[in-house]
Amino acid sequence: MPFETILLSYDGSPHARRALDAAVELVRATGADLHVVSTPEPAMPAIVVAPYGDIATMPLTEEQIEEAAAAIREDVLAAARAAGIAEPDLHVRRGDPVANAMSVADATGADLIVMGRRGLGALGSLALGSVSQAITHRARCACMTVI
Ligand code: ATP
Ligand code: MG
Repeated sequence: MPFETILLSYDGSPHARRALDAAVELVRATGADLHVVSTPEPAMPAIVVAPYGDIATMPLTEEQIEEAAAAIREDVLAAARAAGIAEPDLHVRRGDPVANAMSVADATGADLIVMGRRGLGALGSLALGSVSQAITHRARCACMTVI
């Protein structure tokens, strides 16, 4: 079997939705296990100008994280059900999406990471977002970026 453990990195964006569809199809074709890692983040980061001119993005509240996690769970379960595959294992984390993808990839023994080329912040003209670029750079297994 080419791939036994597939890890999808999912941010809920339209790009990641296409990566979800691709991952589910791959699982159906190969019988691989599917894990999903997600680090909820604001869709449009609110810019906060802190005292002394520091600029930071406003973190999500606990409630917003719970809401995002529920929406992610719903997306993933609906796609899995539609494809008739087993319920994927969901890993919702806080912090850095790249570090989280790496640690879940290691913990699950993933041999393929699937992600979108761009994500929630797809406003610029870059072909590859910073998260997919960093995951591809740091991963110790095969990576697939879905257009
Ligand atoms: P940037 O974030 O650099 O402004 P972007 O949002 O367009 O650009 P990325 O964030 O690199 O692009 O998103 C590319 C893919 O990486 C997404 O489709 C998704 O598969 C994955 N990804 C991005 N952010 C997260 C996240 N917070 N949690 C899980 N997966 C993520
Ligand atoms: Mg992003």
